Amino acid sequence: MDDKKQDIKYLVIHTHMYQPPRENPFTGEVELEHSAKPYDNWNNRISTECYFPNLYGRIFDTQGNIVEMVNNYDYLNFNFGPTLLNWMEIYYPKYYEKLVETVKLLKEKKGFSPAIAQCYNHTILPLDNFSTKITQVYWGIRDFELRFGFKPEGLWLSETSVNEDVLRILIDYKIKYVILAPHQLSKAINLKTQKEDSVYPNRYYVWFDRDEKKIKNCSRRINIFVYDEELSKKIAFDNITFNSEIFAKEINSRYKYFKDNLLIIATDGETYGHHHKFADLTLSHSFKIEFLKYDIKVISLAEYLSIKEPEYEAEINPGIDEEGTSWSCAHGVRRWKGGCNCGDEGIYDTSWRFGLRSAMKWLGEVLNDIYFEEGKKLFFEIYLSRNNYIDVIRKKITLDEFLNKNLKDINEENKKRAKKLLTMVKYQMFSLTSCGWFFSDISRIETQQNLKYALKAISIAEELGYKGIEKGVTSLLSMSKSNFKDIGNGEQLYERLIKSSKISKECVESFLSIKTFLNGHTQYSNYIFDIKIIKIKELGCGTYIYSSIFDLESGEEKFLNIIVNFKTIENIKINIKYGNECEAIETMEEIKLENFNKKMQTEILKLFVIKEKQKGLDNFNKTFDTLYKIFEINRDMAFENLEDDFRYVINQIININLINFLRELDFKNIDNIEKIMEKTKNLDFKIDYKLSNDITMLMGNFTTKIFSKEIDEKDIKKALNIFKRLNLHPLSFHLENLIYERNGSQKAKTISQS
Ligand SMILES: [Zn+2]
Repeated sequence: MDDKKQDIKYLVIHTHMYQPPRENPFTGEVELEHSAKPYDNWNNRISTECYFPNLYGRIFDTQGNIVEMVNNYDYLNFNFGPTLLNWMEIYYPKYYEKLVETVKLLKEKKGFSPAIAQCYNHTILPLDNFSTKITQVYWGIRDFELRFGFKPEGLWLSETSVNEDVLRILIDYKIKYVILAPHQLSKAINLKTQKEDSVYPNRYYVWFDRDEKKIKNCSRRINIFVYDEELSKKIAFDNITFNSEIFAKEINSRYKYFKDNLLIIATDGETYGHHHKFADLTLSHSFKIEFLKYDIKVISLAEYLSIKEPEYEAEINPGIDEEGTSWSCAHGVRRWKGGCNCGDEGIYDTSWRFGLRSAMKWLGEVLNDIYFEEGKKLFFEIYLSRNNYIDVIRKKITLDEFLNKNLKDINEENKKRAKKLLTMVKYQMFSLTSCGWFFSDISRIETQQNLKYALKAISIAEELGYKGIEKGVTSLLSMSKSNFKDIGNGEQLYERLIKSSKISKECVESFLSIKTFLNGHTQYSNYIFDIKIIKIKELGCGTYIYSSIFDLESGEEKFLNIIVNFKTIENIKINIKYGNECEAIETMEEIKLENFNKKMQTEILKLFVIKEKQKGLDNFNKTFDTLYKIFEINRDMAFENLEDDFRYVINQIININLINFLRELDFKNIDNIEKIMEKTKNLDFKIDYKLSNDITMLMGNFTTKIFSKEIDEKDIKKALNIFKRLNLHPLSFHLENLIYERNGSQKAKTISQS
């Protein structure tokens, strides 16, 4: 680095953007998550609060008008977990594409990528067996490459968990750098003087692989960036992100402690917008204005590597059990296997983690044995087949092409078994997702999610002829005691709350077809299935739906006839038959709504209620007119006695019009809402309509539609104005983004001028 560059204050802000896989592995659906209210699930909530706002960061003037939009990913160093991107790709394709484009453009323009890979579904690599470690790393790298079009230079380790074996695998896969916390290094040696030095953060080190005699192999090396733990903790846990002036000042005051004029901040990405509200705005304002005041240059780690030679070598801390270390546990990696109280919130017993680890580890061993024993009969190369299966998951090649290339003997039976084996190991790996151990109790949704994946993997093993595995798993789970009496132990949790996620194929497929129909769609895709509605017809005995269902995992397409009768809510009748078009109910088989799991039932009923509500709009309008007249006649009396009725009716009218609008994009619905608002304004009546999950669940589809349809800008602004007046922030957010995309940065100001 030359002298001039030596004076520049470099800043790297790394954000780890990640959500665990959340879909029910039998239905491919992210089910309703009550705790995410008013959102329908956590992915939607955190994306709307954090990942998307950082894509469209706002800078406001003193009147609160948007004067500029900043894409924070142009400045951040970051990783997005594949399991999060999978969701975004399905439910918010426009924003997903913008994110991918951002990375591609930066790489093209600067030659460096701010985005790095992540091990695939966030397992604790030091605790994985050797072949799982490799697949996690390879899938993470390949997933990145297939999305962004180039190989990643860096890789984010889940919970920054690392040991020497992990680093060796990363070197094998040509990863140039990782990011670790200071305590994960045990030793620093000056490369020139060979003298030992303390481990300082905000610096990078080289780690060399060694042979069995501990002799350094200089050609096998990887760089380790050590982030500033003190500053990062301050950002994550203290409130310095609410104001960009304070944020920049705090950061600037930190340089004087470090020699290299480099600061590296690393936190969970959710810090900016989800954990700390408006911290996304703080970032935008800092990037555009505040950091410039201090001559702070924001840079990516890849770029920094290109301007600065390494000065130090490092050895890594083997950890308390010599298994490795991590950023979120002071006891090596015990947080994910038991033996420490990290994350106990001061009151909970966390010893359940041991039983859970034993159960998932044992399951992994058994299923890996099955995979390798069965796999060697089928595949040319068992390891490579498992690794290359990511190309099928990413739809780089079709399942059939993949099998034709990898199977020794191609026939239907072999193909079927191979598909099952590959799906089985995928879900087995998902059962190791680190979040299952991270929190205070075994009853957390993250742990339940891991157990659902275990159940799915076990079910596939059973289909392959391997029975009795479940017993082994549940007996180990019985060692894990929940802190809550009504949950009991892990086995009881599994029996009571997990097993119900396993649903028969008939129920899954009819559920998805009915859901698609009730949503008014002709096509719907989730993680596992593509559904197409081919025909809908009203018959005397109910609604006839004919659909095709494509299962991405088995590569099979089915055709399904359904007659569903919603006449009475307590007796919904569903009749189904697979095969060619057939409207004869007497040839069909009846399935009961009770056969669906609770979440599916809720969703069907919810969609049914919406449909019913829509029918009642005229009545609500009439009631509104009646009440309005009463209010005109005697305002005070009416307020005393009819205020709640009035509010209820108004909220229903707004709700129904909003649902219709989000689904159909018909601006008449916006006019209807406006009329109601004007009338109530005349009465000085304050509307307090609140966002609910029947609205948020339509938001993804709505966003996709507004970006892909020709809409008059006047209409968009009218809707935006209404959303702002009703304080429906997420909806106005998407419309502002749309206006911005249409008019470009110079006209960001026009967004507020509606
Ligand atoms: Zn710990």
